[in-house]
Amino acid sequence: LALVSRTDNKRGEDYFSGLLVAGFNRSSCRSRYESALYRKPSRYKPSARLVRKLRQYEDLHRRCGPHTASYNKVLRLLKPGGAAREAAETGCRYLVWTPTYGLGNRILSLASTFLYALLTDRVLLIDRGNDFSSLMCEPFPNTTWLLPLDFPVKNFNSFNQGHPLSYGRLVKNKTLRNDVLEDPFSGHTPSSFVYLHLTGGYTSEDAYFFCEPDQLVLREVPWLLVRSDEYFVPALFLNNIFDLELTLMFPEKEAVFHHLCRYLFHPSNEVWGMITRYYESYLATAEEIVGIQIRVFDKKRSPFDVVLRQVLDCTLTQKLLPGIDLSHPAAVADRRKTKAVLITSLYTGYLEHIRTMYWEHPAAGGLVVSVHQPSHEGWQNTGNKAHDMKAWAEMNLLGFADVIVTTARSTFGYIGQALGGVKPWILLRPQSATIPKPACVRDFSMEPCFHAAPHYFCRGEKGGDIGAVVPYVTRCKDVPNGLKLV
Ligand code: GDP
Repeated sequence: LALVSRTDNKRGEDYFSGLLVAGFNRSSCRSRYESALYRKPSRYKPSARLVRKLRQYEDLHRRCGPHTASYNKVLRLLKPGGAAREAAETGCRYLVWTPTYGLGNRILSLASTFLYALLTDRVLLIDRGNDFSSLMCEPFPNTTWLLPLDFPVKNFNSFNQGHPLSYGRLVKNKTLRNDVLEDPFSGHTPSSFVYLHLTGGYTSEDAYFFCEPDQLVLREVPWLLVRSDEYFVPALFLNNIFDLELTLMFPEKEAVFHHLCRYLFHPSNEVWGMITRYYESYLATAEEIVGIQIRVFDKKRSPFDVVLRQVLDCTLTQKLLPGIDLSHPAAVADRRKTKAVLITSLYTGYLEHIRTMYWEHPAAGGLVVSVHQPSHEGWQNTGNKAHDMKAWAEMNLLGFADVIVTTARSTFGYIGQALGGVKPWILLRPQSATIPKPACVRDFSMEPCFHAAPHYFCRGEKGGDIGAVVPYVTRCKDVPNGLKLV
């Protein structure tokens, strides 16, 4: 029923209001064409400015992409004898992204990196890691975003905070001459390659990346490598060089990641098959889908029975799920009133308990409640293709839900809520194995939280709350030191 009604108005043909460009080979990426049939229509339309910027970006990527003449010229800068002027004349500069941590973190940091590429007219190339290319389709037409395997800089794992080409270290060692970065090895200016370390636990010098003078310096560097596990977009909104363009591209700030996700991340055919099979088997006929994402970071603080009671307290108190009717044990359910509960979790137990509750007792109001959980992998196994495919499929299934309950701090949940365009209820973190009060709160917006936000402004501007500078960047409900767009 839901599928039929969702396909009625041929939304599949409008490419998310111009967010997506036509002209891809349909069979190579079915989700690109079919996801609008399954997802709820978005309340948010991409602005004309964002659409134009994306089309310009796609042209740039085609012109500068791997193995083009321009790419080859700029690549020579990474080898002895490369000519800087020749490379500059191409107008191509690059941003290489390398993955770190779980899939949710990867998607957040990749979307942030792409937005930074849009703002700085750089071409985004990705280190595919073990399995990224089997999870996602190519997002840009007639080119590739995969960093070629013959890229001369190898072993990205060796790039870390202490690396001589790390921006924070270059700043610390004052390798800036007339505001131009000097290569610590050759003494050449500008440096051809700089590493940006933007993961949680970074130093103040690393975080100077977000400041205006540093952006002017980095503009001159042809190759930037980024490692981040963060959604660092809120910090870009606090930068005076970018804020005007960002505001024009995203007049609705609570929908930045929603648009970026729907533009960039199209499940591969294999994953799309998993998503649609599951949807059609278990969810399609429900009047309403309630997604509950349960992530346990610390089993001591969040033992099973506490989390289970917390989930029930949240969903029943907020009337997201119907209570049980103890006074009419033989009540007959109304087949037209169906609610499907989709649980995503690494663990078993939650599903059985909630399912049994609605089996042993009728749901209030005559609702038919069905409870489903696609997998229970037991532990995080990032980098394993089959495991990551399930995680990515489940994030997408969460995105089909009408109501979403997520776990505080979990980036996995952030992806589901953004794909679906749904403002979530957040299960707050239990302290010392007791249910928090309230058990859950409604978030301000569906935007992810930038967990490791810098503590203060750029040089010389210490003091004051960085979460109170502009009305659309505020502190997060699930991570008090974090920042988010609202
Ligand atoms: P976070 O750690 O909650 O912020 O989310 P990440 O996605 O970055 O890392 C957690 C990883 O654990 C996921 O990417 C999956 O590999 C795995 N995982 C956690 N929860 C689930 C779940 O509900 N379903 C599946 N299939 N995998 C999960």
